[in-house]
Amino acid sequence: MQSIVLEGKNLVKTYELGDTVVNALDGVSIQIQQGEFVSIMGPSGSGKTTLLDTLSCLLRPTRGELFVNQQPVSEMDDSTLAQVRGKTIGFVFQTFNLIPRKTAMENVMLPLWFNGIPRNERARIASDMLKEVGLGDRLHHKPTQMSGGQRQRVAIARALAVNPDVIVADEPTGNLDTISGNQVLELIDDLHQKKKKTILMVTHETDIAERAERVIHLRDGKIERVQTTNRKKTARS
Ligand code: ADP
Ligand code: MG
Repeated sequence: MQSIVLEGKNLVKTYELGDTVVNALDGVSIQIQQGEFVSIMGPSGSGKTTLLDTLSCLLRPTRGELFVNQQPVSEMDDSTLAQVRGKTIGFVFQTFNLIPRKTAMENVMLPLWFNGIPRNERARIASDMLKEVGLGDRLHHKPTQMSGGQRQRVAIARALAVNPDVIVADEPTGNLDTISGNQVLELIDDLHQKKKKTILMVTHETDIAERAERVIHLRDGKIERVQTTNRKKTARS
């Protein structure tokens, strides 16, 4: 039986700036099942990043309920939530968010340090993960010594290192040229299909979104429609 990794019920996120109130999320309910590949798609400002950050517990919703592996997040204090997040979710960002002065190895080892993994083990896992993303020959390079595509693959190795239940990626190819973007998307496809990873990806491009099995279309902080792609249909038939 499949289990639900992330779930939001009637999520509302409101930002108030002076007199302006923005309903970045306006009552969104969503479930991400283990092993699924889901994308969140919509125009700029539709609430994609807010939804992703809320589901991945970086932001607390203004209203509504959030569950991680069926545990209610509202009952967790900030430090418990940070621990749960660190073990459950691997993050991939548009701008990679690597530490510039640290090598690929050191960058990938960092979340393992937060999770209390001993040093030897951290090094072994980091080099395995970097090999996994095709960077076995770049272990000691720093981000400035690597291309954009390579940097994003380091970030993916870092996300994988904690063996998370779900990998969340916000516009992971947004800063990449077409060729390296496609390599990153193929890597994400492989993680889903071969390694059975759960993936939640934000994008504003239709052809990228449709690599997922399910596309959640957002508009003005609401789910406009949910699309099942050919990929899901093929996988099922
Ligand atoms: P998307 O990722 O789809 O472009 P966002 O989730 O970043 O959209 O933003 C949704 C809406 O919320 C936008 O109108 C944006 O201006 C607003 N917003 C996002 N973050 C903040 C913030 N920290 N403070 C105020 N308004 C915000
Ligand atoms: Mg965004």
